[in-house]
Amino acid sequence: MRVFVTGGAGYVGSACLRHLLAEGHEAMAYDNLIQGHAAAIPGDRLIQGDILNREALAEAINGFAPDAVMHFAAATCVGESVEDPDFHYHNNIEGTRTLLNAMRETGVKRLLFSSTCATYGMSLKCPMNEDSPQEPFSPYARTKLTVEWMIRDFAEAYGLGFTLLRYFNAAGASPDGAHGEAHDPESHLIPIVLQVPNGQRESVTVFGRDYPTPDGTCIRDYIHVDDLASAHLLAIQATTADTREVFNIGTGTGASVMDVISACEKATGKTIPQVLGVRRPGDPPALVADPAKLKGVLGWEPQYPTIESVVETAWEWHRKHPRGYRE
Ligand code: UDP
Repeated sequence: MRVFVTGGAGYVGSACLRHLLAEGHEAMAYDNLIQGHAAAIPGDRLIQGDILNREALAEAINGFAPDAVMHFAAATCVGESVEDPDFHYHNNIEGTRTLLNAMRETGVKRLLFSSTCATYGMSLKCPMNEDSPQEPFSPYARTKLTVEWMIRDFAEAYGLGFTLLRYFNAAGASPDGAHGEAHDPESHLIPIVLQVPNGQRESVTVFGRDYPTPDGTCIRDYIHVDDLASAHLLAIQATTADTREVFNIGTGTGASVMDVISACEKATGKTIPQVLGVRRPGDPPALVADPAKLKGVLGWEPQYPTIESVVETAWEWHRKHPRGYRE
């Protein structure tokens, strides 16, 4: 297959691109490099450009002549989406509309879209399946749900096969420690916790211990980024010009903030001091996937089913690259 990957230099996009190449497919990243890292992918697999630039995008798609598109390019920071919703709506909605029109122009009929479990509601029972009601609680999540609907409408009107993938919490790094998570500023739990044993921070602040969970801290489903990538490959292979599909991607097992800190202590052999902080606005108590459909329909199985196995790979990356890709 030849796959065009928007946002292909980002954390999840680059893992998918590397996985496609490793499995013998052709892949090309299209990325504006504002959040992405050129070093995350082989240099000849990158076209630097913005999805809002329709001419450049159509030219890049035409030049590469893909069978399918994986669409990751988006603004993803939840806090920023509250402060500057215009940026998120413009980037995510207008950016996707531009991509869909460029695909129409160039005749590409298969699309995989990177959506999120954040489109599900705040207080739902876990685990969540694909039919759980969608009541997004941040501007970021609302842009993702809007894009899901836009893709459905374009598919009906103009003929397009699509698969929507709703991720839970992407985490971990390539097992050789060569590629991993590097956000600036960093807001995600595992990289922040690992900054303590790396000597970059004194302690980790736990955002609330009064949630209705067994230890009082929030529960998330941390899915290894390589397991996300293998789900993407299975999904794109199953997507034809008639497909209208949606899958959750998660392990089905939740880990609390305290479970993550314990796993990091185990992986690093160091004690990680904690400070109790207030709840972070908009954090749901628990988000855990029901991956039954992904396993049943696509035959997917995670290689990293436990939080310990995910954190071990993350530590290998952060230990070797304390400054991420900035070296
Ligand atoms: N969290 C925390 N301290 C931090 C960062 C995150 O307690 O410094 C918590 C956060 O409240 C959430 C969980 O860790 O319950 C995962 O947060 P993250 O930002 O990694 O992912 P999210 O679930 O928001 O996508």
